[in-house]
Amino acid sequence: MSLLLDVRGLSTHYVSARGTRVTRAVDQVSFALEEGETLGIVGESGSGKTTLALSLLRLLPPAARIVAGEVRFEGDDLLRKPAAEMRRIRGKRIAMILQDPMASLNPLFTIGDQVAEPIRIHEGAGRRGAWVRARELLRAVRISAPELRVREYPHQMSGGMRQRIVGAIAISCEPRLLIADEPTTSLDVTIQAQYLNLLRDLQRAHHLAMIFITHNLGIVAKMCDRVAVMYAGRMVEGGPIRKIFNAPAHPYTKALLESIPRLGDGRARLTAIDGQPPDPANPPAGCAFHPRCPRVMDHCRQEAPPELVVGESQTARCWLAADRR
Ligand code: SF4
Repeated sequence: MSLLLDVRGLSTHYVSARGTRVTRAVDQVSFALEEGETLGIVGESGSGKTTLALSLLRLLPPAARIVAGEVRFEGDDLLRKPAAEMRRIRGKRIAMILQDPMASLNPLFTIGDQVAEPIRIHEGAGRRGAWVRARELLRAVRISAPELRVREYPHQMSGGMRQRIVGAIAISCEPRLLIADEPTTSLDVTIQAQYLNLLRDLQRAHHLAMIFITHNLGIVAKMCDRVAVMYAGRMVEGGPIRKIFNAPAHPYTKALLESIPRLGDGRARLTAIDGQPPDPANPPAGCAFHPRCPRVMDHCRQEAPPELVVGESQTARCWLAADRR
């Protein structure tokens, strides 16, 4: 395997219209992804997961600014690319699936037009050839009767079909990296499992690297090779899935794992993480997790921990991790 994506010290801030309020949505995040590998990015709402994904593609809203870092994709820093080149990369070499398929599909165009569009734009195919490929792609994502479906509109599809169509569009130009942002949130549980299996099959068939953004650690366990845990804009722990699940180094990761419901474990109540995530525009001093941390020490309230290596390929931003090195 070779290195596909190398993100170093990425920081993205939201700045209010008057410039008086700065929110550090993504703060000094670093991680790497090999070809064909899957990274899960987990964390509560507002932890910076989606802003991180949008920063990789430079698809941020106007109030957001990438203020530091590098996003090296196949060796080139995407943050230094001209806008026109980024347009060629998006959809062609890096594709994204959003959580709400209706936000990705245009209600006024047929399914065939929408699946064929990136093939025409990025690969220069004619209308006829692109439609033939669109039918093949719909078959690949297990849409029945694709020759009929290409002429239909998004409102004629179920939620599960729409999400599979978005998947077909994402893989239409055979990208190297697929970013899936909470892609199963709008699906019911049985369809979720089917869709995850489908993504897994597509990944194997196309040797795709994948970034899977979710708040669901069960999905991470099923889909991912590595995991990055986000809290208040920072990656507080990262490493291979087995190590993080078996021996988490950060109290937040440990609390997330303990909050997963398990059949037959006899607990009357689920374990919850006390308190609320901090206001990202006004985080607490020191370690941002300290007001909720069961192992907080005086030092934690004063100084934020650096990223510490705690084992082979595992890092954590926690003073306790220094004892595990
Ligand atoms: Fe808890 Fe301190 Fe570690 Fe933060 S640095 S997670 S407060 S022990």
